Amino acid sequence: MKKRIAILGSTGSIGKSTFEIIKKNKKDFDVILLTANNNYKKLIKQAKEIKAKNVLIKNEIFSDKVKKGLKNSSIRVFSGDISLKKIINKKLDYTMSAIVGIAGLQPTIDAIKNSRIVAIANKESIICAWNILLKEVKRNKTKILPVDSEHFSIMELTRGIVDEEIEEILITASGGPFLNLPIRKLKKVKSQKAVKHPNWNMGKKISIDSANLMNKVFEVIEACKFFNFNKIKYRVVIHPQSYVHSIIRFKNGLIKMILYNADMKIPISNTLYEKRNIFLNIKKINTAIFNKNSFYNVNKKRFPSINLINKILNSGPSTATIVNASNEVLVDLFLRNKIGFLDIVKTINKIFKDKEFKKYAKRKVKSVSDIKLVDNWARLKTVAICVK
Ligand code: NAD
Ligand code: MG
Repeated sequence: MKKRIAILGSTGSIGKSTFEIIKKNKKDFDVILLTANNNYKKLIKQAKEIKAKNVLIKNEIFSDKVKKGLKNSSIRVFSGDISLKKIINKKLDYTMSAIVGIAGLQPTIDAIKNSRIVAIANKESIICAWNILLKEVKRNKTKILPVDSEHFSIMELTRGIVDEEIEEILITASGGPFLNLPIRKLKKVKSQKAVKHPNWNMGKKISIDSANLMNKVFEVIEACKFFNFNKIKYRVVIHPQSYVHSIIRFKNGLIKMILYNADMKIPISNTLYEKRNIFLNIKKINTAIFNKNSFYNVNKKRFPSINLINKILNSGPSTATIVNASNEVLVDLFLRNKIGFLDIVKTINKIFKDKEFKKYAKRKVKSVSDIKLVDNWARLKTVAICVK
């Protein structure tokens, strides 16, 4: 039987990779829904190519354009903030949650309620709203799978493993485009250079987060939420080749790691095919690269963001939401050349010193509107600090 699929954020980097796998294996999938924010042209093209049943364009300005583009088809067009339940008539088998930023939160919750499996690439929803996601996961008996390469690897390496067996969990970081740039030059780096990741081809936001290692800050928090392992066991290591995504050091003397190419199609397809019954015809790793892998500690002078991990873990349950929101604003400002590269982490550190910080950081959130309140405060505060 064909799997009934939705891709939330189908026009983005993860969305496109998911789309490509599905396109190559059409006999296995029935695409019920594709969604995008602004990129209506790509959405129309994808919907036609794969004969999607429904499309949703979030930005209503483009609604008519999508309708026009699909007018000779039976594909239904929706726009704005519409819930999945209104679009589908039967539970989905699989949803890829691949919207960028906290904008992906409500759609992810919605997917958990309406899909048997939800593969989550949108790390922001895990970081900011894990308790809410988990409640819905239990209530709806949904299976959630991590797509982020590091978390996918941890899941693979720790099947049947309990915390007592683990000594250390290493999350690798490539170090991004500025790993070897003299530190004094970081101040002046431009966004055009920062978005060019040496190994991965990703969306702009996550590429900037990878250049200053904020992505690793979020990934450690993401792992702390997703897995039931002691938070103090996580460590970030630099591994410029990006073949190994996570490493587990066991107390019994063994170390385990998996290697795979820096290609998100690998974790994505393994979540699409639960029984791993897929042959991915992609570039094979030459075993000669085993000789060329290197791992070393993070230089905190180059990557001061890494100090934020402990600050987030020790400053109250809503701290991650504050840092995430502030970072989203700052990355956007940096992409528009309004602030410098180093100002991102500097400004986040300033937020921790704000007199209202504790009040918001200690909030225990129960709903999306609770999160939005904290998120909003952090956004406004960040802008206020930047214009000072
Ligand atoms: P991207 O910017 O390439 O794509 C984002 C997608 O989300 C687009 O389809 C866009 O139309 C949609 N979108 C944006 N804002 C939206 C809104 N307000 N409402 C509805 N849809 C909206 O991003 P990406 O690199 O594919 O990353 C997506 C998510 O996956 C992020 O959370 C990122 O951290 C995570 N992730 C990405 C990678 C990667 O390799 N790209 C790896 C691991 C995790
Ligand atoms: Mg990752």
